[in-house]
Amino acid sequence: MSLDRAEAVLTDPTLTNEVDTVLRRTDHGYRAASARGSLDFARRADDSMEVLATEGVNPLGNERADQRLSVADETDDAWALLGDHATPMAMASTAQYFDSPHAPDLVVLHAPTHRFHGNVGEHGSLATTQARAPFIAAGPGVVARGIVDEHLRTVDVAPTVAALLGCAPVDGHDGLGRPRPRVRLRVQDGDERTELLDPDARPDHVVLFNWDGCNPQALHHAAATGGAPNIAALIERGTSYRHGAIAALPTATLANHTTETTGVLPGRSGILHNTWFDRGRDQLVDLLDFGQMITARDHIRADIETIHEALHRNEPDAVSVATYEYGDRGADWSTYIQMATGGRQGPLTDEERRRHRTTDFMGVPDYRNYSVYDAHSLGDAKHCWSGDLGMLPRFSWFTLNLTDSAGHYGGPHSEMGRAAIRDSDARMGEIIQAIEARGALERTAIVMCADHGMQATADGEPADLSTPLRDAGVDHHMVDAQYVYLR
Ligand SMILES: [Zn+2]
Repeated sequence: MSLDRAEAVLTDPTLTNEVDTVLRRTDHGYRAASARGSLDFARRADDSMEVLATEGVNPLGNERADQRLSVADETDDAWALLGDHATPMAMASTAQYFDSPHAPDLVVLHAPTHRFHGNVGEHGSLATTQARAPFIAAGPGVVARGIVDEHLRTVDVAPTVAALLGCAPVDGHDGLGRPRPRVRLRVQDGDERTELLDPDARPDHVVLFNWDGCNPQALHHAAATGGAPNIAALIERGTSYRHGAIAALPTATLANHTTETTGVLPGRSGILHNTWFDRGRDQLVDLLDFGQMITARDHIRADIETIHEALHRNEPDAVSVATYEYGDRGADWSTYIQMATGGRQGPLTDEERRRHRTTDFMGVPDYRNYSVYDAHSLGDAKHCWSGDLGMLPRFSWFTLNLTDSAGHYGGPHSEMGRAAIRDSDARMGEIIQAIEARGALERTAIVMCADHGMQATADGEPADLSTPLRDAGVDHHMVDAQYVYLR
């Protein structure tokens, strides 16, 4: 009853500037509801989705992956609500989310007219602009197809990278424990993308760059117009998925970084989101809190393998590394493991801090600070490729965070957003040069992706959704202004 009442309160037409759609479980499956209509659906045993009923505008009714593929497509009709704004794979994405024992009772997908946390750019919902991350790969072991009108999923990244590394297939299971023969990771929800892989040309090294929150339309535009020459070079000699890597719900950082490093969906990996209420421990988990962030790996389910762990199962002596990455369990060298154990790299010189930094935005802490973090990530990456670890890394995962911060602060299609792409491209280029200096570039496959997309939001005040719920007698605990746990 409380759940029905909560849904009725939040989908009231007076809240449409703040609330687009709410998601919840029902006795028969799942339900998505907005002020304009609703969808009831179920997941069958074979994972296919069955529509049980619709009313009015189905908020998840447009599952096309080929919409909003340019900057103009995104900026025209920017505030379209779900149902008009496409939501690729939204029913499956919703169902896996509720597989978590810690999933809230009701999820609010904010309307794009709602300015969450004062941010100009946002992500987290099922809208394609928020879910779509770029995915580009090049080098030995990768089929060079140019820009293809196809998509993959963030959950496909880990199995594809594990295949590229030559990890032998094993008989494993999916994140719900159902057997899966011949998979690359012991627990695997995703699929290796065989159309991308050339089994006759194995790379000696695989390097993955994750540009957090990088909007793929802005990235492709920059690559085509001289704003991202290293990305353009990767596309030129590799394959880029124009329809992107579609993030799973919630289309947010910790959830999809973990999905990309493990091949397991957020509802099953142990890391549901950046923050959630742990029902068993009766406490809030907040992985954006620095102390919790650098030990986020401890939440990953014990039976799951990260790419690092799968590599070591196959090649115990291989070196794998990670910089500024949460899903670093099993890495031989990792920034966050170094931080957690007090063994950090030394401070940067002034010259290192300033390098590749667009000076126009130095007055903005969100730009300046994240530039410094990325300068550290660059320094750590060069350390990993200096030869000081004894062997050159077989697998490297390098995360850069400025694109996310600049996208939130300035918007994905702002001057600041373009500067973040330019700076990140230069940092990635310097790491590629370091690999070349070791004589290893020709034997190295390079993957570039992000964890989710970024949508510009309208000017406005963030809404308090707790008060109308309380006024209606719904006793609840609200997490991050979006996640309703009934009491
Ligand atoms: Zn992110």
